[in-house]
Amino acid sequence: MSAADMAADDSGGAGASVIDPLTGLGNQRRLREDVCALAAERAADPAPFTVALVNLDGFKPINDLFGSMAGDEILCQVAHRLKACTPDGSIVTRHDGDEFAIILPLIFEAGSAERIGYLIKDVLSAPYDLGDRNVRLSASLGFAIYPFAGEEFSDLMKSAETALYRSKRRGRGQITVYTREIAQEMRHSTQLEQALRNAIIHDAVDVHFQPIVSLADHQVLGFEALARWIDADLGFVSPAIFVPLAEERGFIDTLSETLLRKAADAALTWPRDLFLSFNLSSAQLKDSSTASRTLAILSAAGLDPARLELEITETAVMACAKTANAIIGDLRQAGVRISLDDFGTGQSSLGRLREFTFDKVKIDRAFVSAITTDRVSEHIVRAVISMCEGLNLKVVAEGIETEAEAAMLDALGCAMGQGYYFGKPADAAGTLRYLYRHYQDLSAARHKGMMLSG
Ligand code: C2E
Ligand code: CA
Ligand code: CA
Repeated sequence: MSAADMAADDSGGAGASVIDPLTGLGNQRRLREDVCALAAERAADPAPFTVALVNLDGFKPINDLFGSMAGDEILCQVAHRLKACTPDGSIVTRHDGDEFAIILPLIFEAGSAERIGYLIKDVLSAPYDLGDRNVRLSASLGFAIYPFAGEEFSDLMKSAETALYRSKRRGRGQITVYTREIAQEMRHSTQLEQALRNAIIHDAVDVHFQPIVSLADHQVLGFEALARWIDADLGFVSPAIFVPLAEERGFIDTLSETLLRKAADAALTWPRDLFLSFNLSSAQLKDSSTASRTLAILSAAGLDPARLELEITETAVMACAKTANAIIGDLRQAGVRISLDDFGTGQSSLGRLREFTFDKVKIDRAFVSAITTDRVSEHIVRAVISMCEGLNLKVVAEGIETEAEAAMLDALGCAMGQGYYFGKPADAAGTLRYLYRHYQDLSAARHKGMMLSG
């Protein structure tokens, strides 16, 4: 490790405390000193060592619910358990908040890191005694092995943070060791990130539109906007890849605002009774400025908020319920409607449907594509449709690919549908051509109907 690494945290001057006053563990400064000392020791003897980051899952709500005294008590118990369950010679420090770090001098490779990870996870998941009640928590872990995951302190910690982030992204109680594959993926995503940032600057990310139709008569009711990006070197990159990347790297706002502006401009060229459905990303539902920014874009474009629907997912809503609820409330107040996307795939809780106010539910493609062959999917779809009827919510079935699926969903009482069967996503010009053909077909059909009945 470099002299700069060792000196980097000297801001407190000589004698600055290395102790976390709450738990009595070392603090981040102590972590840096000890990691650097161990690295210096190992310079002569090239044996690896491991650093772990431990982050409690769902600690904040518990802190909010039971008060900070209870929170402090839990942190002290966690500190105690970590010291007790880690091998001799390990050093446990508290990073900040509910994050702890552990230096494991005798863990040399991924398998052993994982084994100790499972042990720590089990130990931390036992109930916490708060006097009058017990509380349960889980923890996520990220491991980085020196020197492979970083020779410098900051690089090693960044790798551990990446590993921890991946654990968190997979849900609760997960363990990740920073491996060569992750390093490779990180390089690839950095390349992707640079290309995407450039594409946004050069206005090269486009938006396509897929029709949403009435299942009874196949008439178009609106379009869902879907982001499209073809890079000169990387080729077609799916929004399922680049949207999460933009979220992770913190520029989803810029991307989403550009897309919404384009989508609103396109919607202005359609008949006024057609709606525009636009996907909000989960990061946007955590940002309290989302409602005002969205409305500002509509107002600048001149699109009536009543023509906009925003698609959000259950997982996104759950991640930050309070903020999400406020955003949804502000948008609905302005006339924007809210659709619950990918229904049935998230950590569904029907209670959420009562807690939040939605206008529409989109049944995920997974159920729709199985509906004609799988009885269970059929029952689920039936149940969702009848529940939505009771709750006065509109229903859209996603991913309809065949006439049989469309007919069956119509028979089950599903009002709206979307999928390749009705139309693949097309760019703004293609969408206008689609509409032109659509209205021609529609008037021909009406004409034929009139002739037959007359
Ligand atoms: P989604 O919101 O569930 O969008 C529907 C996806 O299903 C789209 O994939 C669409 O092209 C695809 N699809 C539609 N009909 C069919 C069908 O009949 N069969 C099959 N196999 N697929 C069908 P796409 O465009 O690749 O988008 C993937 C995901 O990326 C979207 O899933 C959405 O979560 C996200 N996304 C796309 N555009 C945006 C955007 O502008 N903002 C945000 N935040 N997310 C976006
Ligand atoms: Ca969607
Ligand atoms: Ca969807």
